[in-house]
Amino acid sequence: MATLVTGGAGFLGSHLCERLLAQDHEVLCMDNFFTGRRSNVAHLLDNSNFELIRHDVVDPFKAEVDRIYNLACPASPVHYQFNPIKTVKTSVMGAINGLGLAKRVGARILQASTSEVYGDPEVHPQPESYRGNVNPIGLRACYDEGKRCAETLFFDYHRENKVDIRVVRIFNTYGPRMLPDDGRVVSNFIVQALRGENLTLYGDGSQTRSFCYVDDLVEAMIRTMEQDDTVGPVNIGNPVEFTIRELADAVLSKIDTNSMVVEEPLPADDPTQRKPDISLAQKVLGWNPGIELSEGLDQTIPYFKTRIGV
Ligand code: NAD
Ligand code: UDP
Repeated sequence: MATLVTGGAGFLGSHLCERLLAQDHEVLCMDNFFTGRRSNVAHLLDNSNFELIRHDVVDPFKAEVDRIYNLACPASPVHYQFNPIKTVKTSVMGAINGLGLAKRVGARILQASTSEVYGDPEVHPQPESYRGNVNPIGLRACYDEGKRCAETLFFDYHRENKVDIRVVRIFNTYGPRMLPDDGRVVSNFIVQALRGENLTLYGDGSQTRSFCYVDDLVEAMIRTMEQDDTVGPVNIGNPVEFTIRELADAVLSKIDTNSMVVEEPLPADDPTQRKPDISLAQKVLGWNPGIELSEGLDQTIPYFKTRIGV
């Protein structure tokens, strides 16, 4: 099986490439290295089944593959808001180029969509049938609406051109190889605690998220790709919900530090609550996340210690 992973040098992509190689896939990893790093896949470069290509998905590409995982897109608010127009182009043109390739070569293609398509949800937890509450002109729209349009393209190529699609909606996922300056909450809190800096709690910390460990997520992505019961969208994430203040306390309980929690202004359009309804994933993938937050933090903290040299 030959598999293309766009965004393969990023956080999730590098774990996915690793797992696919372990399953004897030939893996073509494509990345423009905006938020991905060569070092994330450096340990794979000696594997004769692995190839790394620097390419921007906004430009068309060709490859003889059986599977395409489309992960290319910055995922943290800091990075996707850095150049919002580019973020929209990456989602939309990346989807068009990936789908065009899938159509030409008859590959199955999976889109890494996001819980952000639900915006600031008024339905809780969020099932796949919920259509969302997204501000189309806000600071997060470049990401949210880009991902929503990518889903539209996936389903139109499926209906019009019979492209074999899969769509997963990924909820907050964390683990080793997140960037220390990524701006996402798990990496921010761990790095701040390790450096003895105060933990920046945006708002009063009562907003909620549900955190999935990367290994669980990658397993669900591959299962979605390889099953024939549904094209999706399928929610994948860990349904155990925490307030962001509880997350700060959990991180502080695991790191010997003088850091305190300080409140900072809440960013615009920050969703107040988020928790996946994963009944569909449980039913069609036979999948449940197995790694709870405490264990996942234990696996993530040593990575950041090494990465930032403390
Ligand atoms: P990441 O930023 O580490 O990975 C994204 C990768 O895409 C990086 O390697 C980056 O360099 C690459 N990339 C960005 N723009 C590109 C372009 N134009 N051409 C080629 N490569 C490009 O983020 P991640 O957390 O690994 O996210 C991977 C995917 O999963 C993204 O599509 C993201 O939207 C989705 N997702 C992630 C989460 C999460 O919690 N981690 C949640 C929902 C959805
Ligand atoms: N957050 C925070 N401090 C930080 C970074 C994030 O309190 O240093 C909050 C953020 O406002 C949001 C939650 O943590 O409510 C998750 O943020 P993240 O950027 O990780 O993901 P997303 O908002 O995209 O779910």
